[in-house]
Formats: sequence, structure tokens, C-alpha cells
Amino acid sequence: MSELIETDVVIIGAGPVGLFAVFELGLLDIKCHLIDILDRPGGQCAELYPEKPIYDIPGFPVVTGQGLVDNLMQQIAPFSPEFHFSRIVNSVEKQEDGRFKLTTDADETFLCKAVVIAAGGGSFQPKRPPVARIEAYEGKSVFYAVRKMDDFRDQDVVIVGGGDSALDWTLNLQPIARSLTLVHRRPEFKAAPASVNKMQELAAAGKINFLTGQVSHLEGDNGQLTAVHLSMASGEAMVHATRMLPFFGLTMKLGPVADWGLELNDNLISVDTEKFESSVPGIFAIGDINHYPGKLKLILSGFHEAALMAQAAKAIVSPGERVVFQYTTSSTKLQKKLGVA
Ligand SMILES: Cc1cc2nc3c(=O)[nH]c(=O)nc-3n(C[C@H](O)[C@H](O)[C@H](O)COP(=O)(O)OP(=O)(O)OC[C@H]3O[C@@H](n4cnc5c(N)ncnc54)[C@H](O)[C@@H]3O)c2cc1C
Repeated sequence: MSELIETDVVIIGAGPVGLFAVFELGLLDIKCHLIDILDRPGGQCAELYPEKPIYDIPGFPVVTGQGLVDNLMQQIAPFSPEFHFSRIVNSVEKQEDGRFKLTTDADETFLCKAVVIAAGGGSFQPKRPPVARIEAYEGKSVFYAVRKMDDFRDQDVVIVGGGDSALDWTLNLQPIARSLTLVHRRPEFKAAPASVNKMQELAAAGKINFLTGQVSHLEGDNGQLTAVHLSMASGEAMVHATRMLPFFGLTMKLGPVADWGLELNDNLISVDTEKFESSVPGIFAIGDINHYPGKLKLILSGFHEAALMAQAAKAIVSPGERVVFQYTTSSTKLQKKLGVA
């Protein structure tokens, strides 16, 4: 049975612009759920350049990609947004009662009064490792994301990769897996040094195996993995495995957004510049995913779009309610919502 979640607004994409939209909608008492294919917030900032400095965020002479995301998460905390990570929104349909129905590949259905598409450059999709017949195992015993930790409980898990996802999941799954082997093609890692240190401590204590090598082929029946074969400097090796998690990075594709019946301009959603509404009333598009004359794909542009979108979404979520323009510096009402008055 698919889970039904009802809310005011669903935001598709938890990149910087989707996150700031929570703030602008929250000031207008609009409750949001956010859905993202990644397993953490931050979109391109967190996934592509977490440690690079950004110099053109107003008020921050310099802030890293991850630093900006952390600040946004702190800024929107008073509105308690609900996050649904590691799932892709597959469909968006208008219902007869005017609401929108969204479905995800995690078997959830959302019903909401307005939709905000903040899908950036599109959905991040995992890169498939160059391993013969891997498709036969995908979704059964080879996964590119962890949806439910319990799916890995008491399993023999092989994690492949050297970035943050590979190291984070090594640390998170080690306590519940029957055995865990991390495989990386070289001894150096791209992941945060603190995670690498913890992983090395676990390996030294014999709680995980760390092997330097590459997956050569998989062994199993009917999609169920039984072993992962590796090419290593010392020769071939075989690891008994019932689950494999390859983390080989991500590519960006427009994905299902293209099929939602919205007017597109060169794979971007056409919007007006008053409300940032798409060709379907009630569906807004903000940030890198939208197109209008003069559009600049900058974070600050997305923040401005979020503010104007929120005013228009308010008229849909609470029809007839008068919105009084207020400053956060002087409005006690807004400060109460932010938990500072
Ligand atoms: C290397 C680099 C450096 C940059 N430097 C700067 C800079 O200095 N200043 C600046 O202003 N900008 C910079 N940018 C651009 C900036 O990162 C983007 O403008 C910004 O990330 C756009 O934010 P967004 O929220 O619109 O989209 P994104 O950050 O792309 O986030 C969109 C999110 O939507 C999710 N998503 C998409 N489709 C679906 C779906 N169907 N279901 C579920 N989730 C979905 C994606 O997984 C993603 O997490 C840089 C970009 C790069 C790559």
C-alpha cells in the first residue's frame, strides 16, 4: 500500500533554492515537504563543490558550498520542513479538486495545493560502474542508494568507492551488517578525512575489510548476488557478498520533469517573472530549472524567485487571506514564527 502524505506545498529538490523556499513559504505559514533523489540536502553545492568557496552570496564575503547549505538548514529549522531523501518524483498530476498528486519511486503519494519545482539541473543519477551484467542485480541486491538501513541488516555488504557516500555508508552500515567490505581502486580517498580515519580504525580493529582493487565481475543467481570478484594488484580475489553498493558519482539528467506536461524551453521550465509560475497554474519553478528572458543561473537569483513565488503560492494555499508585507527586523509576528521574539 502506498503511503499518502497531505500537505500545503511539496518542493521537488532540496538544493539551496528549494531550501530557501521553505523559509519564504514558512514566513507565510505554509507547511512544506521536500523530496530529493540525493541522500542529503544541498543539491549541487553539497554534491559537486562542498569545499569550494562561493564569493557572490549577498552578505557572505566567502562561504563554502557545504557552509551555505548548513546555514540554510539552520535558517529554515524553525519551520520544521519534512524531508524525503533518496527518492525521485516520477509524476505530478492535477486532480479534479484542484490539488496536485505526486508519486515517488519509494511508493509514496503526496497530495498538495501547490508544487514548487526546484530541481536545478535535473535529477542526479548514479553512474553505473563498468561491470558486466550488473543490470541483472540492480534493485535486487545491487543498490545505488540506501533507502532503508534495515535492507542491509545481517547482510554481507560490499561498498565500492572512495567519496563521502562510500565512507558515510561504510560507517553507518558497519554496526548492522553481518560483514562489510569497502573496495576502492586506490588507498587515497576523496571523502572527509575524519570519515577516512574512522574507517581505518574499524579496519584495524577487524570490524570491516578494506581492499584496494576494482570489481571485475559479479556472481549470483536471479539477481541475487553471492560473491563480488575483484582485480587487485596482488591478483584476483573473491568476497562473499549478498548486497553491493557502488558509489561512482552522479550525473545530472533532466529526468521525469520533462514528462509533466509543462511548457519547456531547451529543457528548462518556462515561467513568468512575477510569480515564477509554469504553464500549469499552481506549479511553480525556481532556481536553475527555470527559464525566462535574462535568467542567470545563480543562487541569489533563485533566492529572489523563491520570495516572489511564495507570495503567489499563498494565494493558492489560503485563498482570500490578505497578506500584509512585513520586515523580519520589525515584525513581532514574523519573529515569533522564527522563534526569536
Ligand atoms: C562547480 C560549481 C560552482 C558553482 N559556483 C557558484 C557560485 O559561485 N555562485 C553561484 O551563485 N552559483 C554557483 N554555482 C551554481 C549553483 O550551484 C546553482 O545555481 C544552484 O545549485 C542551483 O540551485 P537549485 O536549488 O536551483 O538546484 P540544485 O542545486 O541543482 O538542486 C536541485 C536538486 O533537485 C533534485 N531533483 C531534481 N529532479 C528531481 C526529481 N525528479 N525528484 C527528486 N529530486 C530531484 C536534485 O537531486 C538536486 O538535489 C556553481 C555550480 C557548480 C557546479
